This record gives sequence, C-alpha cells and structure tokens, in this order.
Amino acid sequence: MEKKSFKAESQRLMDLMINSIYTHKEIFLREIISNASDALDKLHFISLTDETMEKLPELYIQITPDKDNRTLTVSDNGIGMSYEELEDNLGTIAQSGSFQFKKDLSENEKTDIIGQFGVGFYSAFMVSDEVTVISKKYNSDKAYMWKSQGADGYTIEETEKSSYGTDIIMHLRPDSEDEDYCQYLETYKIQSLVKKYSDYISYPIKMEVETSVNTAKDDEDPKYETVREIKTLNSMVPIWRRNKNEVTQEEYNNYYKEKFMDMADPLVTINVSTDGIISYKALMFIPSVVPYGYYTKEAEKGLQLYSNGVMIMDKCEQLIPDYFRFVKGVVDSQDLSLNISRELLQHDRQLKIIAKNIEKKIKSELTKLLKNSPEKYETFWKAFGLQIKYGIASSYGMNKDALQDLLVFKSSKVDGYTTLADYVSRMPESQKYIYYACGDTDEKIKALPQTELCKEKGYEFLYFTDEIDEFVAKSMITYQDKTILSIASDMAELQSDEEKQKTEQQAEENKDILAFIKETLGDKITKAVISKNLKSHPVYLSADGAVSIEMEKYFAQMPGDEPKPKADKVLELNAQHPAFQTLRNTYLNDKPKAEKLARILYAQALLIAGLTLDNPVEYCDMVCELF
Ligand code: ADP
Repeated sequence: MEKKSFKAESQRLMDLMINSIYTHKEIFLREIISNASDALDKLHFISLTDETMEKLPELYIQITPDKDNRTLTVSDNGIGMSYEELEDNLGTIAQSGSFQFKKDLSENEKTDIIGQFGVGFYSAFMVSDEVTVISKKYNSDKAYMWKSQGADGYTIEETEKSSYGTDIIMHLRPDSEDEDYCQYLETYKIQSLVKKYSDYISYPIKMEVETSVNTAKDDEDPKYETVREIKTLNSMVPIWRRNKNEVTQEEYNNYYKEKFMDMADPLVTINVSTDGIISYKALMFIPSVVPYGYYTKEAEKGLQLYSNGVMIMDKCEQLIPDYFRFVKGVVDSQDLSLNISRELLQHDRQLKIIAKNIEKKIKSELTKLLKNSPEKYETFWKAFGLQIKYGIASSYGMNKDALQDLLVFKSSKVDGYTTLADYVSRMPESQKYIYYACGDTDEKIKALPQTELCKEKGYEFLYFTDEIDEFVAKSMITYQDKTILSIASDMAELQSDEEKQKTEQQAEENKDILAFIKETLGDKITKAVISKNLKSHPVYLSADGAVSIEMEKYFAQMPGDEPKPKADKVLELNAQHPAFQTLRNTYLNDKPKAEKLARILYAQALLIAGLTLDNPVEYCDMVCELF
C-alpha cells in the first residue's frame, strides 16, 4: 500500500511530538477526548436541523485500555470522517484550523506555540509509537483505517466498522527511564486524568472497570467477587453549571486553557448566574496575554452559546460588543430554543437582553480590577488597551460613555497610569483643559519644546504614545465637560495675561519677518507665528485644523497610493530665542541668507515633530555653510 507523506508543516510538528518537547504528555488524553466530544457535538447539531434523521442513539465516548496489546482506544459514535477528511484533517496540520505552524522557531517559541494552540490529534504521538484511526462517516457505508507510526507518513485503506463514529487506537511507546507510558493503561490513572481535564465534557465518558462486590446473601459470610462494569468517569456537569463555591480557580483555569487553547491562566474569570425574566448562566474569561492573531481581521469574536447544556452556536457574535471582543466564554440559557437559526438569533430579544447584561458585567469587572488590582489592570491594559481605545475612536465617540472610565494613560505627574477621573481630580482650579502631548515614547514626549510652559505652570499632561490616542481624544472631545487639548494647541491657555500681551506685541513687531518666512516656505506651512508655548527652545510645528501632526504621520503609513490627509502646519517661533534674533538681523541685512536660516528652522521643526525632511542633503549643506 502506498505510504503518504505528511505535509511539510505536519512533519515538523510530528517531529516535535515524537521528540516530545512538551513536558505534560498526559494532556494527550484530554485532546483526543475533546476531539471526540466535538465529533459528537457535530452529529448532535445535525440532528437538530435535519428532520429526516432517525432518532439518535445515546452519544458517548468510550475508553478501552488493553494491557495485552499495549493499546489505549478512545471511541466515539459521533460524526466520523470520510476518506478525504482523514487525509485532510489528519495529514495536514494546516487543516486543523487552530494550528498555524511557523518556520524557524526557537525551542522556546515552539513550546510556546504548542501551548498556545493546543496540539490536538498529534499529541497522541507523544505517548504512542503507532496510531490507528478507524472511522466511518455518518450517512456513509464505507469505513477507513488511517495508520501512522509517526515521522515517515501514513496509510489509509478501506476497512469494516459496524456503525458510524471514530476509534483512535494508540499503541503506547515502550517504557523508558524518563517516562512510564504503561501508566496510561491503568484504570486509576485514566480515571484521574478524565476527572482532571475532561470532567465537564457533556457526553458520558465510559470505561469498563473492575470492582469488587459482595455476592453473599444476607445470612451468609461476605463473599467478594470481581465484576466488570461500565462506569461513567465524568460528572458531565458543565463547569459553568456547577455552584461557583464548589469550583476552584484551578479548575476554572484548566477549563479555560483547554477550551480556549491558551497556555496562560486567564487574568479574570467572570461568573454570571441569573434567574430573572430570562435565566442564564455565563462563564467568561479575560485572557492575560493577547491571543495569536488577535489584532487581525480574521480574529472572530463571540461567546459559545448553549441551550440547556447543549451547544447551539460556537461563536455567537451578538453576545459581545466589539470593544470587548477579547472576552471568551460560554452562555447557557434554558430560555433559548434549540433549533434557533443564525438569522433568528439576530433578532432574538432574549439574546439582546443577555448581551446587555453581559456587557454591564464585563465593564463592572474591569472597573473593579482597575480599582482594586492596578497591577493586573496594567497587564490587561497592555494586552487589550488598544481595543478599548479603538472602541471609542471607531465609533466617533458613541461608545464614549461606556468606555471612557476604563482608559488609562501615563502622565507627567504619576509613576504608573492614571485614569481621566484621577487626572481631573488633580487639576488646579486655574487649569481649564485636560492636556496631552504626543510622541513615540515617554522620553521623547518629556523632551518636547512645547511641554515647557505646561511644566512650568505645574499642569499635568497625558503622554499619548499610541497612534490612536489622539483620535480617541478627538472623538471624545471632552471628559467631564473639560476639553481634551493638545498642549501645542492654539487654544492652550498656558501664558499669563502679561505673557500673552507680550506675545501679541512681539507678533505685531515681527509681522514683516513672519510674512517673509511664510513666503520663503510657501505651501509647506500655512503660517509662521510667534508661539505662546515656547520658553527656551527656538521652534516647533503645530497644526491648524482637524488633522494634527500625529494624525498626518498615522495616515502616511496607511497603504494605498491616493493622497493622504496632511496637517496644516504652523511654524511656531520663539521671539526671545537668539536664533530668532539672528534671523531677524539677517533678514534686515542679507535676504538670501535669511531664507536659508528660515529653511533650517523649518527643517528642525520637522525633525522635532518626528517628520522626515524632503531633502536631508540640502539641509545638511545649509547647516554646514554656517560653520
Ligand atoms: P483541532 O481539533 O484543533 O481542529 P486536531 O488536530 O485535534 O485539530 O484535529 C484535526 C481534525 O480532525 C479535527 O478538526 C476534526 O475535523 C478531525 N477529527 C479529529 N478527531 C476526530 C474524531 N474523533 N471524530 C471526527 N473528526 C475528528
């Protein structure tokens, strides 16, 4: 029979499994059981919608250890796999959906990836030297046997199987000094693994176990006999239906990691149980690390939806607002009808009520975290802060009320992060606005010329280091009726009346030279002004109108050839600065040289703003001419 090779990526994962870099080999059983449970779900799902289907028999998973043959078999009477599915699902990792294997990873990264994605079916090879899969697809009369000893490929041939479903037969590796594989054939071990990892699986996981029973009649001496009986190993009560006080955090963590394929424990576990107009239970988690691919279009949101313990939808989008898409979990309600269709769900009133409550609950949990565990909130913020900010910016402020109190920023007055509410509470009476300054890093912001006056006044300003920050501020406009304003803004009121008057006077006195600078720089700027925000530095750029300098930078990076929005740039000059005075004197005596000085100042303003020079060589030459 022809032996087929695994696809390249599968081959690599297979090598990893065989050389088993993952230390918790025992998780293979959970992975195989979880696949069986999915297969049962799929069949159950069909039965909900397919009226022609005969009544389903009891759906279950069976574990059969066989010490003589050294095999452990996990069987299910679920959907089964066709020839093509065996080939596609088990021959190619890419098909497994959850595993995107990356080339050239370091050992640590590999372990990481395996932890993150769950290894699924391939984990069987951590403990087996041969895996046989016998499967018959539901509604098909043919069964197939897939077999592989690992690295060198697999075979598929036709076989006999009386009913639909799948048997995974794992031939265990020989025991070695480091690892005792035959323990996985022991009843107590299997029982404890099922309890530990798969207790909540909603189908019975059965196994034949030996028990000793007293067969003596009442008046006889006890007579013990060993009998074999089929036992269900799992309690089948989904974890979210169990009483919260009876479930340990470790159990929740294990459940989360297995179900949502995360290596790290969740940051927050949220439990909801209500018996109101609509009764439902929800178990939700906020991950502590950003899931792989989270900030891409492909990442789907949604909670798993159950009706009375039976899954009816894998990712119910309506249950979660976009800005909380990082939340994972399940919702179970007996008030939802079982064969609800996708479209109907969209209009389902009950679902809307549940979604509203869930949103409130998530928000209150985050607020609690922010108040009571700032460190944890920081972890959350580093992972998903961007999502909250997108939530405000992308709705043009519509979600402002829901989200503004979850925002935190670094600032010039606090060590860690501050909320806007705390910022406002620290504002001196004289301060009218909430100020911010933009830059790539905190360090760069601290050094900006335009922050000088603000510092001198003792006004606090927020550090906006994310590209989206300014969009957030612009879509919010105000917080607690206080305008959120760039310290570089024209409106920023940082000067005293006296200083203001002086600036106005200087502007008047320098009208000619300002006009000359504007003429020299042409379209590059909309105007040159005497700045209200400078103290010891000579120059910086501000923007007139809706597009700020930071926004211009942001738009410039967007793909596409069409012209990008640009800021109307204002060249802000410090009339007190020797550079400006030199420029003024030169303007009176040597116009061509004054033009060059104006260009140099403009170029410097560009550099401070983090923008690129149109012609760096020309700039360099002009500066060198001054030597
Ligand atoms: P994942 O479960 O993450 O998709 P796996 O590698 O565990 O990846 O499994 C690959 C695929 O093989 C599954 O998606 C499923 O389609 C199929 N499969 C595995 N086990 C079974 C089973 N017992 N019954 C039916 N299909 C199965």
